[in-house]
Amino acid sequence: MDYISTRGQHGPIGYEEALLTGLARDGGLFLPASWPRFTIEEIEAMRPLSYAQLAGRIMARFTGTEVSEAELTQMAEEAYAGFDHPSVAPLTRLTDRLHLLELFHGPTIAVKDYAMQFLARAFDRALQRTGQRAVILGATSGDTGSAALEAFKGRAAVDIFILFPEGRVSAVQQKQMTSVLADGAHAIALAGDFDDCQDLVKACFNDHTFRDRVGLSAVNSINWARLMPQIVYYFSAALALGGPQQKIAFSVPTGNFGNVFAGWAAMQMGLPIERLIIASNQNDILTRFFADGMMQRETVRPSLSPSMDIQVSSNFERLLFELLGRDGARVGGLMAEFSSQGRFAVPQEILTRAQQDFAAFCLDDAATKAVIDKIWRQHDQLIDPHSAVGLGAAWQAKETGLVGSDTVLVSLACAHPAKFPDAVQKASGQTPQLPDHLADLMDREEASLRCRNDKAALISLMEQERRK
Ligand SMILES: *Cc1c(COP(=O)(O)O)cnc(C)c1O
Repeated sequence: MDYISTRGQHGPIGYEEALLTGLARDGGLFLPASWPRFTIEEIEAMRPLSYAQLAGRIMARFTGTEVSEAELTQMAEEAYAGFDHPSVAPLTRLTDRLHLLELFHGPTIAVKDYAMQFLARAFDRALQRTGQRAVILGATSGDTGSAALEAFKGRAAVDIFILFPEGRVSAVQQKQMTSVLADGAHAIALAGDFDDCQDLVKACFNDHTFRDRVGLSAVNSINWARLMPQIVYYFSAALALGGPQQKIAFSVPTGNFGNVFAGWAAMQMGLPIERLIIASNQNDILTRFFADGMMQRETVRPSLSPSMDIQVSSNFERLLFELLGRDGARVGGLMAEFSSQGRFAVPQEILTRAQQDFAAFCLDDAATKAVIDKIWRQHDQLIDPHSAVGLGAAWQAKETGLVGSDTVLVSLACAHPAKFPDAVQKASGQTPQLPDHLADLMDREEASLRCRNDKAALISLMEQERRK
């Protein structure tokens, strides 16, 4: 399988090169040169597969001859062996037509573990084969960083540096990052917000000298291989609920547009999905875009769901590329406009095309708390604020008729409630308990580095800390 850049100037390259490169050299993101497609019969035939086997079957379409289905299945088995639920991504029924997909059964109790645990193994395999080392640099609004540090800690060929916005992540999230004390694993507190962290990461990637010298690579969802394992649970959930025959829609709490784009990839691969609901908090840039076709950046307003406190959804560029008929030059032009003027617009016909597959809704903090409280009172279940935004958006989609009355709605629960105990407590009066494997988290020893919002300072810090 070949990979091409959304800006048309890098590639085609193979799967492993796309994995290790992360961000394309023209500033774009990699996508498969064409979407592999399963027939309905092939999807039916997946029903008896285990989660790891399903992962192997789906991802093999993206690795082509470079990694076999058997090897991918083996990697997925190892990646998900430590998860605390046998189904890996179990469903909870709220009503016959509404289910939660629980994506918090990994080591850091949030959705990022599903991709990151696989990705660490994918890196190991690729680096071992070529005898290279890599430096992984990432920005996090909370959950990516802990999942990445947890997955990559102590791996001999990789040093990992994770930037997080100081004071903008929850105490549990911060502790999950700073308590990883393994060699080569570093959490860096940056004076700035998440978008500053992300811009700084991009700037380092655009410094080609530094990039080549250290073998810089990304594990943010700008890396295609981050999205690949996320496609799997859309298939597993649909199959468990009577798909491909039963009509299914998904509501996806969205920040960087990675998770919901993985759902769209599942659609391109032939999984019948009626609609993907983009659920946002008060940082509603995507909701506004889907209303009028104008992408307009505003300042980030911190919310109860910090992993979605994002104004620039990097992965949206992948959808834009598809909507514009894979015209890389046009994508490059719009992204340049966005970066210089903070906005761009698409014509009505492009917006209409996007609205066929997606609907977008947002909830402010008060509405988010109301959903947490309602689910606690009606279903005796605690959910985290991100999951609540997903559910609130799912209800809005039902009410406005954007999801059919006979459709089964699956709302993604992207974090365990104990990862955001203060918000859950305020909303429901209940204090969620951490699962057993994290019970002592807040007492663990910690260490972190600090850096100002400056590329040269960050590069020299990484040069000093990385193992050579
Ligand atoms: C990462 C994350 C999201 C957003 O996912 P994207 O792929 O960035 O859109 C939502 N909720 C939680 C809990 C997350 O960790």
